[in-house]
Amino acid sequence: MMETQTLSKVDLADVFQRQQRKALQLKKSTAQERIARLLKFKEAVIANIDNVYEALYKDYKKPKEEAFETDSVIVEIDFVTDHLEKWMNPQAVPTPEDLGGEASVSKIILEPKGVCLFLTPWNYPVLLTLRPLVSCLAAGNTVIIKPSELTPHSSKLIKEIIESVFPKDEVFVMEGGADVASELLDLPFNHIFYTGGTRVGKIVMKAAANHMASVTMELGGKCPSIIDDSADFADAAGKIVWTKFFNCGQTCITTDYILVSENRKDEFIAHLKGTIEHMYGVDGPGIESSKYARLVNNNHYQRVKRLLDDALENGATLVTGGKTNDEENYISPTLLDNVDPDLAIMKEEIFGPLLPVLTYKTLDDAIDFVNQRERPLGLYVYSKDKVAADKVISSTTAGGSVINHTFMHYMSPYLPFGGVGNSGIGRGNGYFGFMDFSNQRPVLEMP
Ligand code: NAD
Repeated sequence: MMETQTLSKVDLADVFQRQQRKALQLKKSTAQERIARLLKFKEAVIANIDNVYEALYKDYKKPKEEAFETDSVIVEIDFVTDHLEKWMNPQAVPTPEDLGGEASVSKIILEPKGVCLFLTPWNYPVLLTLRPLVSCLAAGNTVIIKPSELTPHSSKLIKEIIESVFPKDEVFVMEGGADVASELLDLPFNHIFYTGGTRVGKIVMKAAANHMASVTMELGGKCPSIIDDSADFADAAGKIVWTKFFNCGQTCITTDYILVSENRKDEFIAHLKGTIEHMYGVDGPGIESSKYARLVNNNHYQRVKRLLDDALENGATLVTGGKTNDEENYISPTLLDNVDPDLAIMKEEIFGPLLPVLTYKTLDDAIDFVNQRERPLGLYVYSKDKVAADKVISSTTAGGSVINHTFMHYMSPYLPFGGVGNSGIGRGNGYFGFMDFSNQRPVLEMP
């Protein structure tokens, strides 16, 4: 048993109280002090790059070629340390005459939220824990992290990396599952950063309400890729296939389903099929492959397999893929045609290597289709026609969008990242992540 897992409630309360006291000190920390801490963290991340590859492979055979999760963490640290001093500066604003005008001083200062809780997922366990941690620390908070129990090797490594850099009263990792998460949610955290499914997200928000903790909710949903007739089909198919089957389809911001015009569907499907078979082979990568990740565990495998079987039993046709193996939690990259929008596969987030292709008559129909469903985390448009692409963006709502690619917005530290409605609340990364972990406090000094 891990030391953390045997922590009694009393010990946890002790860590929490020590973090509360430390948070009061860190509140006064300078940009230079925070930068020094982040640079030490960066060194530990760099020293563990190979260990990250190994842990991710042990967890779900994530191939080394797809396991560069530390890259974005390092880019984030570099970006934040370059800008933090400027971001932390109080912002001077004018004062109305009836409040003293120029004789008064009005400013907005940024304060850390205080003691934060992270509940993080398994699909990019290192990236989705350590990248937001950069924002949290830059803003001067303390934090208790509970990584996912479904990727135990990665969670253990996260704990080791953290313990090599931070004392417990600054950052503390507590491994465990939903029971440990519930225990943590009883504590009066100031901010809760949750990444995971929407169902559990609602449980977390209810618990946050007991203490009026602010929340960042990074959730999931069904992200469409809309193919306009003007798109470069070969280019679009290449990008969609790569981003979809990366990590075995277990990416919250990847394409969940495709919408293409009914007149051009066969042509686009031919491009997708050709690309999949070129990248993974006509029979798929195979259960021996070390270049293709697996579904994270048998429960998730069975869930995705059920979606596939149900679709095939109810009129969907298999274009390529569909190979499964129960022992290996393996499903080959799978392309589906003739998918009825009322099937289960179109009702829940797939989060696996199944790619349904649906059709529209006009671009307006595609827009209506998206607007009749929950607001997605990502919406992607492939088009060479700027007017058409702009029309799709301005007529829909999504957490983020990319024109002529999928999910690349996540890679930019200049862009805010997050969901909207059912796909999330709050914004992360770069300046926006720093702000999400800060309180804006107005200070008015009167004569
Ligand atoms: P999950 O909801 O099962 O688990 C996420 C975290 O919540 C884990 O740490 C888990 O231990 C904890 N948890 C589980 N049950 C809990 C409970 N009853 N009370 C409190 N905490 C609990 O999510 P997951 O399966 O790990 O991740 C997959 C989902 O996450 C997908 O829907 C995906 O789209 C979404 N996701 C979103 C983003 C994003 O940035 N928006 C990123 C990755 C994943």
